[in-house]
Amino acid sequence: MLSTWGKCIFCNTKISTSMAVKHFSKCSKVNDVLKGEIDAYLIKIKDKYSAYYWLYVAVPLDYTLEDLDKFIRDIWVDCCGHASEFRINEITYPSDFVVDYDGKKSMKTKLSEILNKGLYFEYTYDYGNSTELKLEVISSVKIKDKYIYILGRNDNPLTRYSTSDKYIPNSPRVGICGYTGNKKLEESKIWPLKI
Ligand SMILES: [Zn+2]
Ligand SMILES: [Zn+2]
Repeated sequence: MLSTWGKCIFCNTKISTSMAVKHFSKCSKVNDVLKGEIDAYLIKIKDKYSAYYWLYVAVPLDYTLEDLDKFIRDIWVDCCGHASEFRINEITYPSDFVVDYDGKKSMKTKLSEILNKGLYFEYTYDYGNSTELKLEVISSVKIKDKYIYILGRNDNPLTRYSTSDKYIPNSPRVGICGYTGNKKLEESKIWPLKI
């Protein structure tokens, strides 16, 4: 499997997807926030088709799919409020959910009710010019506060050899539908951002 480079957001160590989980288990700065009382999952989120874009995040179990959707929109995909959906164990959870029918359920479902360690699931943003993601529940962790902690993130493949300081979003949505990105969130360790 192709693994690509990025960094630990907490200590800036260069990591690849193949060494990320091992690094987090040893990283003292990551372990500071993983020594809490709040049940959470360590989740890997990646572009379904490209190895370049990935995130490792710790998400509280009593967050809902709607929270996770908001997070993914904020950090990676939202251009102009298109519909999105998760697909988990044959069930679809659409953002424009109306009533229970045809295997569709509401995103207002808590992660504790539907996720478990080792589970893979999928996410699509925008049914037209889709951005498709794959998610994996890596392990159970305990976190300090009720935030999504962003532990690791890929290096921007588009600015690696660039000398220009023009901001190019680090996102699988870059170049699609006028996506402008979120520079502030690209350096943040937590979501939502503290104001
Ligand atoms: Zn680290
Ligand atoms: Zn758009």
